[in-house]
Amino acid sequence: MYNTRNKNTKQTKYIIVTGGVLSGLGKGIAAASIGRLLSSRLKVVPMKLDGYLNVDPGTMNPIEHGEVFVLDDGGEVDMDFGHYERFLGVTCKFEWNLTMGKVFEAIRRKERRGDYLGKTVQYVPHVANWIKEKIYETAKKEEADILMVEVGGTIGDIENELYVEACRQIKKDVGEENVMYIHLTYVPIPTKVNEQKSKPTQQSVNLLRQRGIKPDIIIGRCERHLDPHIKRKIAIFCDIDEEEVISGVDVDSVYKIPLVFEKEGLPEILHKKLGIYSPPELRQWEKLVGNLEELEKEVTIAICGKYTQLEDSYASIIESLVHCSAHTKHKVNIRWLETTDIEEGKQVVEEAMKGVDGVIVPGGFGTRGTEGKIKVINYVREKKIPFLGICLGLQLAVIEYARDKCGMENANSTEFDEDTRYPVVDIMPEQKTVSEKGATMRLGAYPAILKPGSLAHKLYGKEEVSERHRHRYEVNPDYIGKLEEKGLIISGMSPNKKLVEFIELKDHPYFIATQAHPELKSKLLEPAPLFFGLVKAAIALKN
Ligand code: GLN
Repeated sequence: MYNTRNKNTKQTKYIIVTGGVLSGLGKGIAAASIGRLLSSRLKVVPMKLDGYLNVDPGTMNPIEHGEVFVLDDGGEVDMDFGHYERFLGVTCKFEWNLTMGKVFEAIRRKERRGDYLGKTVQYVPHVANWIKEKIYETAKKEEADILMVEVGGTIGDIENELYVEACRQIKKDVGEENVMYIHLTYVPIPTKVNEQKSKPTQQSVNLLRQRGIKPDIIIGRCERHLDPHIKRKIAIFCDIDEEEVISGVDVDSVYKIPLVFEKEGLPEILHKKLGIYSPPELRQWEKLVGNLEELEKEVTIAICGKYTQLEDSYASIIESLVHCSAHTKHKVNIRWLETTDIEEGKQVVEEAMKGVDGVIVPGGFGTRGTEGKIKVINYVREKKIPFLGICLGLQLAVIEYARDKCGMENANSTEFDEDTRYPVVDIMPEQKTVSEKGATMRLGAYPAILKPGSLAHKLYGKEEVSERHRHRYEVNPDYIGKLEEKGLIISGMSPNKKLVEFIELKDHPYFIATQAHPELKSKLLEPAPLFFGLVKAAIALKN
């Protein structure tokens, strides 16, 4: 039933990436980098199998889980999809992310429908089969040359066992020559010992073997390149060749990892084992990574949010600024500004803004911190400091303008003050009847039409753009006339002219905001236009 060895159509090769020893070793980056090495001539499709019971991360607080990444199709997914898109240049789909929430939901539905009539529904074969079906379906539907499967968590975690079991079975289904298991582990150098230690790797590989998987390649994450004798030791204990032990050396930029793997000979091993050949095309990539090494000048951009205690909450924004760095050859220092502190008077805006060359007010939910952000926006508007508002950042810029320039005292969003006299930002009509919280926002890519000659138009270089969204509130159409009359430029709207998508100001070096999240589409080779514009304006201001 699951024999997917394919004689007539394209034979997909499967690369399964698991992690060992501890979390946070960069499995997502490793998988994305391996994909990058192969993607010059092959279609690489990434899948991520997450162990948590949420259907998607959309209902989690970013401080808990890091940024919620939004896809074109509106799927809310794990941050790792950001790495996949940035490294592979693919547009990912929601169905490429499995979570235990999705798995159990589907199994329950099938059981109620009677799909298993007469049977006891069991983890093996039923659940494992369902997981494999999704993997094979994706391979087929996408006509993938390579299906890259990242198993979440660390080997031995209870919540990922079913995924590991499903991945073990893949080898039998598709044939040894069509699958490869890559295990990322940790090679510590204990303080004072000053020697690389292979024991955690050996033990982690043992855990993997107990589950019936023998890794073909081991990537050892370490402070420095793995010493030859450590590679030899790992090779002996884990039953692989020395050259199949790869150094996953610490680097200051994740964009170096494909280059590190290339040097370690990974493309040749993949070629040999899977019989695929796709010489990596990394020269432009390498040039930009090289630029990051030679940043002579610097600018400081303040990110004014309220999830600042976990930088992962703003992962794509940080990446977008790195992309700008590579293209402008300026180091972009990030100043984290917790706007709750400004709101509570623990910090004064003027003080906080000293030495800041540009400001981002990012997305967010709930009242906390919003008045602090409004103070910051007022400051940057008046002091003519380059400003980029993202989603909530646009909504607050409109509120600030309404209060200060349109005489609408205490104007607000109904998200923060339901009874405000001037609801310049209000819930979208189709959101009013929504009661469930999961996947019910306005999500995914939507087009916007830009005003000819506007800053937005100049930055994008075209009139119709598409960016990703994740919000429930919008600029209240009843107030557009008044805002425009007082000088606010609505520079982009939805094609039906109902939703405000971009605003900007003239007589300001750079003041622009969007209802979308342009950071989600920024790439090393092609920085998101609004970020690029901000950093260039900040550089201009500084000089
Ligand atoms: N809370 C606002 C809304 O729901 C903004 C959301 C965001 O910034 N992503 O519209």
